[in-house]
Amino acid sequence: MIKNIIYIIISYFICCVIFTPIFIKHGRKKYLKDKGVRYKRINDLNNDNVFEKKVFKYTVFFNVETKKKLENINLLEIALNSFDNNEGNIKEYYNSFLDENIRYNNYVDEFNNIIDKDITYKDDIVIGTVLFKDVNKFKDFEYNRCRKLLKRFKYKFLFRVYATYDSPKGKKHWVKEEIFDINDISSFPIILKQRTEYQKTKKYQREIMTDSLRYEVLKRDGYRCKICGVSANEGARLEVDHIIPISKGGKTVIDNLQTLCMSCNRGKSDKDFK
Ligand SMILES: [Zn+2]
Repeated sequence: MIKNIIYIIISYFICCVIFTPIFIKHGRKKYLKDKGVRYKRINDLNNDNVFEKKVFKYTVFFNVETKKKLENINLLEIALNSFDNNEGNIKEYYNSFLDENIRYNNYVDEFNNIIDKDITYKDDIVIGTVLFKDVNKFKDFEYNRCRKLLKRFKYKFLFRVYATYDSPKGKKHWVKEEIFDINDISSFPIILKQRTEYQKTKKYQREIMTDSLRYEVLKRDGYRCKICGVSANEGARLEVDHIIPISKGGKTVIDNLQTLCMSCNRGKSDKDFK
């Protein structure tokens, strides 16, 4: 009998120790729900702002023929081109990401406004309850609860570029990869714009006049001067000329290039300078 009473007393104390804090916490939350002005504002804000989870993954993959090619591959360059060409609608997603990000930042601003704004509670807010010692305890409790209610941003953007090379017998496998996150991708439009600007410059037009392009023009024109018809076999020194000169906005593209012998070319440039 005494044993049972002892068990009951012990059980009672254990229950008190375990359950009292739970009851208090639960009671405080309920009290806050009824009386907390800030808490209500935060909840209203949260109900108005729903952020869905979205993960956008885009992968560019290719296999190269040599190890050297793999070593020299520029993954950023590939990422930039894929972005520029809007592969897999990557630009649309990027734009919707930016929109969502603006919406989220506005939400965070509003959230912080509510959090930072001081709310005056009268002392009687805690009268009649044992849950809070005084009004400041209530305010602290509300403040800390509210802080935890900030929603997270749920959009993710992962852009992965990777290349592989397999040894001829397939025994070895090399991978080169890079993952671009939203911060990297944000810089893409800027880099691409700078690139477009640079490509309009005369310096760039001179840079892209490569030997292989020169060869292509000579071949197309049958290794003959387009003005006087003299050929390389007849001992003429042939040059590749910009039909519309770079100085006048001509581009280094095959349609704007022609084969000329040295003397015709000199004659032409004399004319250009007149
Ligand atoms: Zn000629």
